[in-house]
Amino acid sequence: MTNNDCWVNIPENSDFSIHNIPFGIFSDASDTKRVGVAIGDHLVDLATAAQLGLFDHLAIDKTVFTAEFLNAFIALGKQKTTAVREIVQQELLNESSVLKGNGVVAQKDATMHLPVFIRDYTDFYSSIEHATNVGTMFRDPEKALMPNWKHLPVGYHGRASSITVSGHDVHRPMGQTMPPNAEKPVYGPSKRVDFELEMGFIIGKNTGLGETLTTAIAEDYIFGKVLLNDWSARDVQKWEYVPLGPFLAKSFASHISPWVVTMEALTPFNVQGPKQEPEVLPYLKYAGAKNYDIHLQVAIQPENSKETVVCNSNFKYMYWNMAQQLTHHTMNGCNINVGDMMASGTISGKSEDSYGSMLELAWAGSKPLKMNDGSERTFINDNDTVIIRGYSEKDDIRIGFGEVRAKILPAKQ
Ligand code: CA
Repeated sequence: MTNNDCWVNIPENSDFSIHNIPFGIFSDASDTKRVGVAIGDHLVDLATAAQLGLFDHLAIDKTVFTAEFLNAFIALGKQKTTAVREIVQQELLNESSVLKGNGVVAQKDATMHLPVFIRDYTDFYSSIEHATNVGTMFRDPEKALMPNWKHLPVGYHGRASSITVSGHDVHRPMGQTMPPNAEKPVYGPSKRVDFELEMGFIIGKNTGLGETLTTAIAEDYIFGKVLLNDWSARDVQKWEYVPLGPFLAKSFASHISPWVVTMEALTPFNVQGPKQEPEVLPYLKYAGAKNYDIHLQVAIQPENSKETVVCNSNFKYMYWNMAQQLTHHTMNGCNINVGDMMASGTISGKSEDSYGSMLELAWAGSKPLKMNDGSERTFINDNDTVIIRGYSEKDDIRIGFGEVRAKILPAKQ
C-alpha cells in the first residue's frame, strides 16, 4: 500500500497519506457539520460515504456522521471506528470506488471545526527537560525537580471551555501581575504571553466512577492524538500560581489541531521511553514500547512577515508515557469520558533549540530570539502567529497532524 495506489492525488510529504486516515469535523458550502477523513489536500465526507452504504454491514447509526462533534462516533468503540477507518482506506485504493466523484472535498473549500466536545481537560507535566528547565529558572538548579516528580506523572485539571480549534485568533489576556520590585500588583494586558508545545490525547472509552485502569490496557482507552498549543501568560502565572497551581494564566485559550490521528495510525512509530530511575511504584510499571516518535516543530510568524522556526522537538522524549498518565489519573477511581482530553505538558528536548516554550528558548527573557525579519522575541508579540506542526516518518511511511495555528491579537482593554 503506497500513496501512489490511491486515486486521490497525495502530494509528496503530505501529512495525510494513505497510512494516516485521521478524523475531523468539517463543513463546506452547505454549512452542516459532518465527519470527514483527511487524504492529501482533500477530505472524504463520511456522511456521504455512509449514505452510499459503505458502512451498512457495521450496523452504525448514520447520524454519528452528521453530528457536531466526533464524540458519538468515537463512542461506537474501537472495533467499529477501526473498521470504518479501514473501509475508507480500502475505498481510496479501489479505482472503482463509489466515492469517486462523490463526497471528496478539497480541504481549501472546507472549514474545520473543533473535532471533539471536550468536557474535561487535564494537563500533565511529563517532560523531564521542561520540568528541569522551569525548576532551574525559578528555584534552585540543584533541586530543579520537585521530590514527587520522578514518582508520579504530575498534572492538574485544566479548563475545557476555552479549548478551540486551529485558526481562531485570540486576544492577549488581561490579568493581575506583580511587576518586579513593585509594592502592589497591577491589572493590565499580560506582558509575557507564551506558547507551550504539547500534544493532547482524546479519550475513546468511558470508565465508571471507582474503576481503575492498568498500564497494560490504558491505551485501549485512547482514541487518538492532536497537536496542542497550551497558551500561558507567564507574568500572571508567576503571581497567581501559589499555592494551588495554574489558573487564569492558562485558561484564556488553548488551541488544538483539527484532525485526530488515531492510535492505530501511530502504532508503527512506537519507541522505547527513557529509563525511569528510581524505579516507579508497581501500579506505574509498564511493559513494551509506549513512547511515540513524533517530530514536532514550532514557528513564529510576525504580522506581514515570513515565519521563523524556533523549536524542533519530539514526543519521544516524554518521561511519563500516556499509559502511565492515564493509569495514574484513574488510580483514585476518578472516571474518564469519551472526548476528554489529556495533555502531555510542554515537550522539550535536551538541546536549546528543542525547548517547547519561549520561557525556555529565551531563558526567561534573558536570551532574545532573532526572527527572520530582524526583530527579536522574548515572548509572543501582538499580531504574531504561532504555528505548531508534527509528523512521524519511518521507512516509506509518513503520517502527520497538519498544524495548529493562532494569532495573538492586541488585548481588549
Ligand atoms: Ca501546559
